[in-house]
Amino acid sequence: MAKTTLVWLQRELRLSHFPALEKAIADSERVAVVYFHDPKQLIGDANSAWLAQSLQTLKQQLRARGGELLIFSGDFADYFAQALQLIEPTQVFYSFQVGQPFSAMQNEALTICQQNKVALQPFFSEFWFDPGVVVNKQKNPYVVFTPFYKAALAQVHTLEPFNDEVTENSADWKKLAWPEFKEQGLSVIPEDLLAIQQQPWAKKILKHWSIGEQGAWQKLRYFIDDHLDDYNEDRDFPAIEATSALSPYLHFGEISSRAIYFELLALSEQQSIHYQPWVRQLLWREFARLLLWFFPYTEQEPFQQKFSTMQWQTDAELIEAWQKGLTGIPIVDAGMRQLWETGYMHNRVRMVVASLLTKDLNQSWLHGLQWFADTLVDADPANNAMGWQWVAGCGVDAAPYYRLFNPLRQSERFDAEGEYIRQWVPELKTLSKKAIHAPWLHQEECKMKGIQLGQDYPLPLVDLSQSRKRHLQRVEQLKA
Ligand SMILES: Cc1cc2nc3c(=O)[nH]c(=O)nc-3n(C[C@H](O)[C@H](O)[C@H](O)COP(=O)(O)OP(=O)(O)OC[C@H]3O[C@@H](n4cnc5c(N)ncnc54)[C@H](O)[C@@H]3O)c2cc1C
Repeated sequence: MAKTTLVWLQRELRLSHFPALEKAIADSERVAVVYFHDPKQLIGDANSAWLAQSLQTLKQQLRARGGELLIFSGDFADYFAQALQLIEPTQVFYSFQVGQPFSAMQNEALTICQQNKVALQPFFSEFWFDPGVVVNKQKNPYVVFTPFYKAALAQVHTLEPFNDEVTENSADWKKLAWPEFKEQGLSVIPEDLLAIQQQPWAKKILKHWSIGEQGAWQKLRYFIDDHLDDYNEDRDFPAIEATSALSPYLHFGEISSRAIYFELLALSEQQSIHYQPWVRQLLWREFARLLLWFFPYTEQEPFQQKFSTMQWQTDAELIEAWQKGLTGIPIVDAGMRQLWETGYMHNRVRMVVASLLTKDLNQSWLHGLQWFADTLVDADPANNAMGWQWVAGCGVDAAPYYRLFNPLRQSERFDAEGEYIRQWVPELKTLSKKAIHAPWLHQEECKMKGIQLGQDYPLPLVDLSQSRKRHLQRVEQLKA
C-alpha cells in the first residue's frame, strides 16, 4: 500500500515554512491535507469569518499547484475517525497548538489514532522553541517576561531556518491531488462558515484585510520597509500606523513567527535594520504560548489563584455599554468601536479598555476575554488570556493590582491631538484637543459645539477617582 500521510491543519494555514507538510511530501507517496471543521469548536464570530476566507485562499493556493484541500465538517471525533477510514493514512502529522479548542481535539485525535493503530506525530513549528528548552536554572518555566526574553535571546542561535526544499518543488504537489474526494464534495468550504463570512458585519470587517499567506508576506514587507525602524518610538500611539497588524495572520498561521525572525536576520545582513524591539513583541507571543502549554488552566482561571476569590460584580448594562463603546470615556469608546468596525484594536488601547472594565467597573476579566474572543479577528487563546490577566493583575508578570490605567492620562499622552478619538467617535470630532479626552469636564465647549452630553454622547459611566479608590479597597480586602 502506498505510504500516505494525513497532514492535519489547525492554525497553520500556509504552504511554506511548514515542516509537517514538507516532511509529509518528502516521505510519502500520497499526502492528504485536511481541515476538520467542527461548528462547536469555533473561537468566535470575527475569527470564524477570517477562517472562512483563509480556507478559501488556501484551497486556491493548493489547487493552483495541482493539490487539494480536504474539509470534513461535523463533530470532530466522528469525522477524524471517518477520515482515517477513507484516506487510510500510515501516519498523521500536525503542528501542536495550545489552548482550546485545539487541546481537546489533539487529545481526541491521539485516542482515535491509537485505536486505529495510526502514528500521530506533532511538530512544534508554531513555537520558536520546543516547550522545556527555555527554562530557568531549576528547569521550571519562566513566569516573568524579561528573564524569559533574555534567556530566549541567548538561545536563538540554536534555531534552524525552515527547510522548504520539497514544498518549493512543483512536481511533488501532485501527491496532494485526491480527485476522488473532490468529487465527493470534500473540498467545499462549510456552509455555516460561508454564512458567517457573508454577514454584513463580517464583510465590513474583512474588507480591511488581505487574508492568506500572500497577504501576510505583503504586510510584513510593507511593515519592514515603512515602519520597522520607528516601531519602538511610535508603537504606543494608536493614531499612527506603526505596528505590523500581523496578529491575525500569526494566529491563523498564515505566516510563521519563526520564519519572520529568519527573514529579519537575512535582511539585517544586507542592510541596517532596527528589529530587536519588534522581535521582543514576537517573543511576548512565544511567552504566552509557552505559558498555556505549562499552565493550561490559565485560559479560564487566574494564574495567581488567590485572585479566584475576587468579588466581581456582574452588571449587564455596564458590560453592554463597554462593548458598544458607550462608556462616555472617549479613548475607551474609540477602542471598542475600532474593534467592532475592523475586528482589531491597538495594543495600548486594549490595555486601557481592559483596565476600565476590570478595575474601574469591577467586571470580571472573563467578560472582557469572551467579548474579545467573539469580536477580534486575531482572537487567540494564549495572547487573549495572558493580555486580560496581565491587565486585571492576576496573571504572570501582571500589572500590579494597584496600578490602574488612568484612561484620561493615557488618552492625553498617547492620543494628544485626539486624532484616534476623532476617527472612531465622530460625534466628538469638533472638540478641541483639550476637551476631547474628557468632554464632561468641558461642558461649556460641548454646548458651544452643539454636543449635548447625555444625549449626543454619554456622560461617563463612573467617576474615575471614586472607582479607583473602590478598586484599591477591594484589593486590600482580598489581601487581608
Ligand atoms: C487585554 C488584551 C487582549 C489581547 N488579546 C489578544 C489576542 O486575542 N490575540 C492577539 O494576537 N493578541 C492579543 N493581545 C496582544 C496585542 O494587543 C496584539 O497582539 C497586538 O495589538 C497585535 O497588533 P500587531 O500585530 O500590530 O502587533 P505588533 O506590535 O506588530 O507585534 C507583532 C506581533 O507580536 C505579538 N504581540 C505583540 N504584542 C503582544 C502582547 N502584548 N502579547 C502577546 N503577543 C504580542 C503579536 O503576535 C503581534 O502580531 C491582547 C492584549 C491585551 C492587552
